[in-house]
Amino acid sequence: MKVVVLNATENQIKPIELANSANSIYAIKNDKGKITSINFFGEDKHKTKQIDLQHKHQGMIPHTHEFHGEKYHPSSARPCTPEELAIIARAKEFAQ
Ligand SMILES: [Zn+2]
Repeated sequence: MKVVVLNATENQIKPIELANSANSIYAIKNDKGKITSINFFGEDKHKTKQIDLQHKHQGMIPHTHEFHGEKYHPSSARPCTPEELAIIARAKEFAQ
């Protein structure tokens, strides 16, 4: 698993739809140096999951969206799992 940090503006909530490599994770950092989202891509390089850290969804920050073919931001979200929280911590370290 690798974490790639890209510079992005704060209001960019549509980071990347397609990854360059399969089974990768991309953390998106805004211009203030904060991670805005962590995006997971599967075997076919399409997004499988997105963790959002800077906006509320159903009252939750952070939260996770599971992708099932949606292009952007599925309407339902769930709380992050302990594994996902660990990935967030790693991404934040990596972004510094
Ligand atoms: Zn969201």
